[in-house]
Amino acid sequence: MPRDLTQEIHNLIERGRDRQLRLAVTGLSRAGKTAFLTSLVNQLRHAGIDARLDLLKPAREGRLLGAQRMSQPDLGIPRFPYDEALASLAGEPPRWPEPTRGISELRLKLRFKTRRARGLLGDTANLTLDLIDYPGEWLLDLPLLAHDFLGWSEAQLAAMGPERQRFAEPWRRAVAAHRPDEVVDETRLAELAGRYADNLRQAREAGFSHLQPGRFLLPGELEGAPVLQFFPLPGIAEADRRQLEALPAESLYKTLARRFRHYQQHVVKPFYREHFRRFDRQIVLVDVLGALNAGPERFEDLASALATLMQSFDYGKRSLLNRLFAPRIDRLAIAATKADHVTPDQHANLVALLESLLAEPLKDLRYADVPVRAFSLAAIRATENRQVESDGQRQPALRGHGLDDAPLLLYPGDVPARLPDAGFWQRQGFTFTAFRPPPADGGALPHIRMDAALDWLLGDKLR
Ligand code: GDP
Repeated sequence: MPRDLTQEIHNLIERGRDRQLRLAVTGLSRAGKTAFLTSLVNQLRHAGIDARLDLLKPAREGRLLGAQRMSQPDLGIPRFPYDEALASLAGEPPRWPEPTRGISELRLKLRFKTRRARGLLGDTANLTLDLIDYPGEWLLDLPLLAHDFLGWSEAQLAAMGPERQRFAEPWRRAVAAHRPDEVVDETRLAELAGRYADNLRQAREAGFSHLQPGRFLLPGELEGAPVLQFFPLPGIAEADRRQLEALPAESLYKTLARRFRHYQQHVVKPFYREHFRRFDRQIVLVDVLGALNAGPERFEDLASALATLMQSFDYGKRSLLNRLFAPRIDRLAIAATKADHVTPDQHANLVALLESLLAEPLKDLRYADVPVRAFSLAAIRATENRQVESDGQRQPALRGHGLDDAPLLLYPGDVPARLPDAGFWQRQGFTFTAFRPPPADGGALPHIRMDAALDWLLGDKLR
């Protein structure tokens, strides 16, 4: 029997016995995926030694014995750079790990005592845990499968608010020099596509999240490939469909439409088919505090990006996702990251805000009976809680170090428990300061509620 097949059958059997789990981590850029996965691996590696995992039941019961790294099954996927991440955290001064920019993977084998085990002797079992990290931006492309080029063009241009239009202006001006029936050479096409990608990058740097196509921002191995060289075409409308479709194959319109289809078939679909469909569980990380910091237009934009991103977890029978790929995620977590940026009395509000930000997608998920839970957490806790005296009153505060290593003691502000309205943005500004990571001491990384998230994501597999 070929080796691959033997391995595949072994994998199937293991999965049947609940001994194998594929857990995927996603979120938009800077949501905290790299920090989360680094901490997750670190906590499990230190389980049974010095990790503090009281909210993870098998750990609390003393049944989680530890975790070892294994070689990963998919040789075609980059390894998650765990050692490199730990090395930056252990630097002097400590630095946040370089974020990952594409899909990466790491396999752990967890060893635990089963519930039946009594005392020191008894049954031990293993759980093979595949961890997969991939950019949330890639999920923003799912709705693109429901469009053809014409529909997509119209939708993209209509969705640009005033500020986004400013970033798009140089591209717009360049593309306005061409008619849809014109023959445009490769070099010029690449240049126009480059300008379109620049506009997306600038928008992202300015704090916008809802940007398509997702691979333009995080191309992975497709950097510079012609499949990424298309863009929406201004000035075309559904009413012109007949004329447009009758244009010659080498016209600008037809060329862009062909590339768009190629992107759908050879970039978006394969990700869902080859990766997404095989995930058992998923955590979606959201930098809610970062969006609050960036102001109302960005906050709205994050909400709309998340609504799109969450369509990838809409398992309603008639959803686009189900019709195309029949996925099988049986449990989902959503988490507001970097909770150590606010004082503990604000954590409940942070979860409530995350839930209201995702209210619509959560409704759909619950309706489709996908178990989902919301958390606030800090993968790597960079601050300590303090009390300060102000006007004779004790106030909560945070102590840590800024990214420039200067010591800080501050109260960062209140987190609203609901979606902020216009009055709120006028009344209150936010300044959630960025902190550098804590100095490493060789022990498990300090965290907030990583154990609660782990309990939800894999606790039941360690019985
Ligand atoms: P990714 O792009 O989703 O992989 O995001 P990263 O994991 O690289 O996180 C982006 C930045 O957010 C980091 O460089 C840190 O500055 C910050 N960050 C991430 N997680 C935490 C956390 O748990 N606590 C704090 N204070 N900052 C964090």
